[in-house]
Amino acid sequence: MAVELETIVSLCKRRGFIFQSSEIYGGLGGAWDYGPLGVELKKNLKCAWWRDNVYARDDMEGLDAAILMHPRVWEASGHVAGFTDPLVDCKQCKKRFRADHVSGPGCPECGGELTEPRAVQFDVQDLSSARWSERSGPCLPAAGDGTGDFRQLSRTCSTRRAAKLPFGIAQIGKAFRNEITPRHFTFRTREFEQMEIEYFVPPASADEWFDYWVKERYRWYLKYGMRPDHLRLRQHGPEELAHYARATYDVEYRFPMGWLELEGIAHRGDFDLKAHAQASGRNLTYFDDRTRERYFPYVIEPSAGVDRAALAFLVDAYREEEVRGRRRVVLRLHPALAPIKVAVLPLLRNRAEVVELARKLYADLRRRFPADYNDTGAIGKLYARQDEVGTPFCVTVDVQTLEDHQVTVRDRDTTEQVRLALDQVVAYLQDKLAVD
Ligand code: ATP
Repeated sequence: MAVELETIVSLCKRRGFIFQSSEIYGGLGGAWDYGPLGVELKKNLKCAWWRDNVYARDDMEGLDAAILMHPRVWEASGHVAGFTDPLVDCKQCKKRFRADHVSGPGCPECGGELTEPRAVQFDVQDLSSARWSERSGPCLPAAGDGTGDFRQLSRTCSTRRAAKLPFGIAQIGKAFRNEITPRHFTFRTREFEQMEIEYFVPPASADEWFDYWVKERYRWYLKYGMRPDHLRLRQHGPEELAHYARATYDVEYRFPMGWLELEGIAHRGDFDLKAHAQASGRNLTYFDDRTRERYFPYVIEPSAGVDRAALAFLVDAYREEEVRGRRRVVLRLHPALAPIKVAVLPLLRNRAEVVELARKLYADLRRRFPADYNDTGAIGKLYARQDEVGTPFCVTVDVQTLEDHQVTVRDRDTTEQVRLALDQVVAYLQDKLAVD
């Protein structure tokens, strides 16, 4: 079943995942607010990425570089160079034109296909509140432009785990792009978040590491339950490659509006370190003990959009199905991504002892997992509300619980129920929610 983007937009609005920014003033194009459930989904995605790429690896360290940087950083990375008007690039002959100078649909010189218009209207040096990224330049300063940090990092890291190449820096942060036509909900916006890795490697093994990261990043989406037939890798052709890139792959997702990029993995060669070494006059080379050679490390850069990943996981998880004669909407989100992990639902809200017990259980669970409590309706309705936001487990407390101290735990996907002793609920959930 193919879900329409509108269905997801309306679910997000109705249930408080994502809604229009500045709505009471008519909204602001390309800006979206994440409500209580959206925040959790996004946070879970970032935590999963951080856990897998920083905590679970010996060769990676985290970084949170300042958004404000020395103006010369922006110069060296090529961001300042005179972009003031919306520009389009010809995918064929690679010439760049002012969008308002192009009259027909194709390139004025060779007739080739043009990219979307983009502009840099901010003055980068005045951009004191924003991390700037522009189509053809490196993205987050910490990752792309922040490769200047390589010097510091290679020193700091040598006292820790990642003393030698290859090693990587991981960073998550806001990025801003002056998209001329923000669209497709949160897919293309002016403000978004990126999760980026700068992985520094010896030039001799850069191609192998590039292959490794392309596969690794593709696998990551599958690990969190994305349907394999909705995910693919696409290599950039020579006409599409950015000027700094030796090769690039996109991880693409089959969105309702077509196959579109979730993440780009770029083989950047020594572009960044060379540019920053030249501009700063600092030595950013690395001495390889093993080969007794000195060189600029090459950089492999997997760069993922948090918002696009969140949207793709929502689309992928959405199902309308019939279970035991009842129609339901369910988000089959991976438990690690689900905003609420468990909901406690008393079956009899008029029985004070049942409510009291349910509240006690809820108080206990919420210290360990993002949890919810609801006694405002019939159980069918309460389950439906949790299914619709992807809560993997619901625990019901009933009259029987008062006698046998057992509760019923219902699984979102199978709707199957198990009866468990109250004091086993935490261990049961911990086991079910564990991620390897
Ligand atoms: P596109 O071609 O779709 O504009 P890009 O190739 O310019 O994307 P990158 O520079 O590779 O994008 O940025 C890395 C990631 O950041 C993208 O894969 C995407 O997930 C995210 N991203 C880029 N631009 C936007 C945007 N305007 N809105 C939301 N996410 C974005």
